[in-house]
Amino acid sequence: MALKDIIGHEKAVKILKGFISRERIPHALLFAGDDGIGKRLTALNFAKTLNCDGKDGGGLFAGAEAEGADSEQTDCCDACPTCHKIDKNSHPDFFDLSPEGDGGQITVSVIRQLEESMAYKAFEGKWKVAVIDHADRLNQSAANAFLQTLEEPFENSIFILISSRPELILDTIRSRCQRISFSPLPAEIMSSFLMGEIDDIDRNQSLLLSLLSGGRLGYALNEDLLLQRDRSFEVLEQMLMADESGLWQDKAEMEEWFDWAQLWLRDIAVEKATGRRDFLINRDREKDITRIAERTVLPDVLKLARELYNIRSRLQFNLNKQLTYNYSSLLIRKRLGRSDVRAQ
Ligand SMILES: [Zn+2]
Repeated sequence: MALKDIIGHEKAVKILKGFISRERIPHALLFAGDDGIGKRLTALNFAKTLNCDGKDGGGLFAGAEAEGADSEQTDCCDACPTCHKIDKNSHPDFFDLSPEGDGGQITVSVIRQLEESMAYKAFEGKWKVAVIDHADRLNQSAANAFLQTLEEPFENSIFILISSRPELILDTIRSRCQRISFSPLPAEIMSSFLMGEIDDIDRNQSLLLSLLSGGRLGYALNEDLLLQRDRSFEVLEQMLMADESGLWQDKAEMEEWFDWAQLWLRDIAVEKATGRRDFLINRDREKDITRIAERTVLPDVLKLARELYNIRSRLQFNLNKQLTYNYSSLLIRKRLGRSDVRAQ
């Protein structure tokens, strides 16, 4: 793909193309926005555009100014060896960093290694590009080392920091990066896109995926999204029945469940407040939502949402899985399992 194929981030792409057409590439950019939204994909295609050998060997800047920011010279050809190598992360002037493992950090040795590689002149391309995904996970010493690099940038090199939690990045690093914001895709735009991408999907299904993913295309294209959602509802029901078999396998599953639980509670609250199916996100599960909504009152649903939100925000402290499950299950039965409102 190329920059022109990036869906829904026209503003960000326009800014990037503007850098090229004005021949002013910043030394450091910060792509900020939710996970799974297309930040990394955009960074990758910007790197390709900076180094592309296509367009009759034109390369970067050749003819770009004359033809304006929307000319093809401000996009990659997606066909030349350089474009292919960057796509496969095998280009000597392109570096793609991210923390190892779940919750892992980017260490100072990784940053030092990157700096060393960036200090040399570009081998093949015109620009050295380093993409640092989850840049909020640079540990303290890595962040300090990286700050020095930003203060004395290398020629023809660019760092692209990517983060869904930019507020966790050191102020001094953030202030040296030009920030480009990425917003979730509107449901209608994503839904139309999904219908073109996925075989045998109808309008209702594509809209459901768009809403469930919260406008994050990377999530919507995840084949397990619906399975994960259905599984999260099963666990909710198991908790309602004080059944412990819903216990999460690991921390990641536990965190995911709390995110899904908010979505279910949101729908239960909407059902209580409006009774309108078209306002539901999980509209294909309306019956299940109504069944639970009938047994509770709105203030209890909202209270539960807050309580689970508070637990979710403490999961980073490695809460005990079993205790967390039992406690959440207790809260759910207390707020959603009231038999005295069943008749209402
Ligand atoms: Zn190319």
